[in-house]
Amino acid sequence: MATQAPQSPQAAQAAQAVKSPATLDEAVAALAAMPAAVPVAGGTDLMASVNSGQLRPAALVGLGRISEIRGWQYQDGHALLGAGLTHARMGRPDFAALIPALAAAARAAGPPTIRNAGTLGGNIASASPTGDSLPVLAALEATLIIAGPGGARREVPVSHLLAGMEMLRAGELIGFVRVPLLHAPQVFLKATGRTGPGRATCSVALVLDPARRGVRCAVGAIAPMPLRPVEAENWVASLIDWDAERALDPQALHAFGDYVAASCIPDQTPDGTTEQLPPAVLHLRRTVAVLARRALGRALS
Ligand SMILES: Cc1cc2nc3c(=O)[nH]c(=O)nc-3n(C[C@H](O)[C@H](O)[C@H](O)COP(=O)(O)OP(=O)(O)OC[C@H]3O[C@@H](n4cnc5c(N)ncnc54)[C@H](O)[C@@H]3O)c2cc1C
Repeated sequence: MATQAPQSPQAAQAAQAVKSPATLDEAVAALAAMPAAVPVAGGTDLMASVNSGQLRPAALVGLGRISEIRGWQYQDGHALLGAGLTHARMGRPDFAALIPALAAAARAAGPPTIRNAGTLGGNIASASPTGDSLPVLAALEATLIIAGPGGARREVPVSHLLAGMEMLRAGELIGFVRVPLLHAPQVFLKATGRTGPGRATCSVALVLDPARRGVRCAVGAIAPMPLRPVEAENWVASLIDWDAERALDPQALHAFGDYVAASCIPDQTPDGTTEQLPPAVLHLRRTVAVLARRALGRALS
C-alpha cells in the first residue's frame, strides 16, 4: 500500500501518520491497523474542524486515490454512486440527466473550490443539517453501501443513518450510495438568506415517481435531519392524473406548499398546546411553503 499525502495538506501536517490506499478494502484495512486514524475525502469539513481546534487527528486515511468510488455504475434500475464523487462532478450535465435533483443540490453546494473537493460521502458522513445532498437522498429513499473489515458490505437506508437509528461503526466507510433512477422530473430548491453561495436556511427536494404514482418530498436545514411530510405527499399524489397531463391548478399547488410547511413546522407544541410562533419561525414556515409549492409546480410543468 502506498503512503502519500491525502487531498488536504493542512490535515496531513496535523496528523502523524498518513495512508493513501488505492482500494476501498485497503482503506478499511488501514483504518483497522490504525484505530485512531480518521478518513479524509475532500477535507472541506474535516479541515474546518482541524482549523478550529475541534479535531486533532493522530492519523489520516486519504480516500482521494480510490478510483472505484469516484464514478458511478448502473445496477437493476438504480445508479450506484461512488462516495468519492465530488459536487463538481455531480453537477455536470451527464449526471444531471440521470438524477436531476442531486445535480442541482451539488451545483448549489458552496463556492467552486468547495465543489471541486467536497464529496458525496463526506456530505453524508458529516450529516450537517445544511448538507445539500441530504434532502435529495431522503426524497429518493437512497441506500448506503457501507464497507467493513474483511470485505464485508452492509446496506443502510440514508434516512436511518441521518436519524441516528444506525451508525457507522468504527473502521467502516461509506462506499456507495444506491439511488433509484426514476426517469421523471425532480427539483431541488434552496434558500440561503443571502446572495451567492451559502449554507441553506431551508431547502426542498421533490421527486416524482410515476411507476409508484408517488410524490416524495424532503425539507432540509430546518431540523437536524431532512423531514418528510408524508401525509402531504400522499394527498397531492392522489390529486395528480398520472395517466394524463399531471397538471395541478394553482390552488392545489398553494395548498401543497402550506401542507408541507405546517407538517414540518407545526403550530402545536409536543404537549398539544397551540402557541403563537415567533416571527422568525413564521418566516421560515412561509419560505418552506414557497419552496415546496415552486418545486411541485416545476416538477409538474
Ligand atoms: C466554505 C464552505 C462552504 C460550504 N458550503 C456547503 C454548502 O453550501 N452545502 C453543503 O452541503 N455543504 C457545504 N459545505 C460542507 C462540505 O463542503 C460538504 O459537506 C462536503 O460534501 C464534505 O465532503 P468532503 O469530501 O470534503 O468531506 P471531508 O471533510 O473529507 O470529511 C468529512 C467527514 O466525513 C468523513 N468521511 C468522508 N468520506 C467518508 C466516507 N466515504 N465514509 C465514511 N466517512 C467519510 C470524514 O472522516 C469526516 O468526518 C461547505 C464547506 C465549507 C468549508
